[in-house]
Amino acid sequence: MQLIFATNNKNKIEEIKGALTEGLEIITLTEAGIDIDIPEPHNTLEENAKEKSTVIHNLTQQHCFSEDTGLQVDALNGAPGVRSARYAGDEANFKNNTLLLLKNLQNIKERAAQFKTVISLILDNKEYQFTGICTGKIHTQEKGTNGFGYDSIFIPDGDEKTFAEMTMEEKNKYSHRKKALAKLIYFLSEYIPEHKT
Ligand code: IMP
Repeated sequence: MQLIFATNNKNKIEEIKGALTEGLEIITLTEAGIDIDIPEPHNTLEENAKEKSTVIHNLTQQHCFSEDTGLQVDALNGAPGVRSARYAGDEANFKNNTLLLLKNLQNIKERAAQFKTVISLILDNKEYQFTGICTGKIHTQEKGTNGFGYDSIFIPDGDEKTFAEMTMEEKNKYSHRKKALAKLIYFLSEYIPEHKT
């Protein structure tokens, strides 16, 4: 079965291609010949994930999935949350978003946070969602150079390193995306034998 993964984010593609199961081929938007910026207009990860998979499904009529991820910080009432990619407004990029978050948490002791990923799968014209959560805390400064986004300031529960100090294998032991993906893969492994397309 071939599935289009509706993202242009190279890190996400690498993480997800690293976790493939037999009988499943994942192709990227570029590989599918699609070059668009998919909108994220909604206030929840669930709605944005659905929007992305629906846009790609309408364009291709093929099985596809998308994911939307947010970093939710308790002391900031869940911000940056669904706006994680655009946190620093016009200046938004991985570095500026990270620095702004550190600034907004200056002198705040309560630093609990979680990454949440929602995967939206459209298969045989039906939508299914899978969620993965990784709890942890926001460090007081950047540490490490691996990964992307907020990886350099996020320490998952059960470890002392930031995601950016970990290899991809180490990050995947905790990763929100990996957990959502494991649910997707389990679902597909049950679905594929019965519904060979
Ligand atoms: P997106 O809208 O799903 O692409 O994700 C929103 C933002 O969350 C991204 O721009 C990153 O800054 C951040 N993000 C998503 N996944 C991760 C991750 O695994 N590590 C660190 N930051 C992430």
